[in-house]
Amino acid sequence: MKRVVSLVLLLLLLLPNLAWAEQTPPYITQYTHGDQTRNRIAITIDDWWDPELLPDFLDVARDNGIKLTLYPVGVNLKESDRDLWLRVIAEGHEIGNHSNTHRDLAEASRDSIIKQLTNMENNLNKVLGEPYVINTVRYPFGSGRMKGLRSAFARAVSDAGYIHTVLWDVDISKQPINRIVPKVKNGSIVLLHANNGDLKKLKTLLPLLAEKGFEMVTVSELLGLTKTGWVPENP
Ligand SMILES: [Zn+2]
Repeated sequence: MKRVVSLVLLLLLLLPNLAWAEQTPPYITQYTHGDQTRNRIAITIDDWWDPELLPDFLDVARDNGIKLTLYPVGVNLKESDRDLWLRVIAEGHEIGNHSNTHRDLAEASRDSIIKQLTNMENNLNKVLGEPYVINTVRYPFGSGRMKGLRSAFARAVSDAGYIHTVLWDVDISKQPINRIVPKVKNGSIVLLHANNGDLKKLKTLLPLLAEKGFEMVTVSELLGLTKTGWVPENP
């Protein structure tokens, strides 16, 4: 009996600690899609190894009246392309962080994760000639997704100044248009890469998605994000 009582006492002592452990807030958030009850989606375009494709992508976005989110790799941001990147901002598109050299961040050290993210920011600010607030990170290869939100990895990402990480639920690569369209749902985050093939697909895809009633907004708008938190949903 005495043993049972002391066991119960011990459990009572431990309980608040267990509850506390569960309530430890995650370092970061991770999104594969937004609100699935609203007909909004985000078109995201990664890498930008060929920034000379930017005007064509921007023209397509303008002609279809949509906003894009671009995830360039930092080394692809060149001061000689300043006018292009300023046009991105002027036309209301969003820029996110896709690391500086497309390094697999899940395999990188804490210092390297922080450097990859801040070097990309520095490159972007140099190109734009003014500071730009980047709200979200997209991991190269999407490879940080299995690391969990309370891990040392997640902590390094948040120590670099990022609490929002954005993945996707529809990847258009290696799929014909007629297979892509049915996969896009309310709240979808659609992944493209900045290459000629995806540019061509986008031209066909956008009118089809508009026909289905989707409004195409930036990821921060879709998810209601600011760099350090969330904006209240407007009804
Ligand atoms: Zn990439």
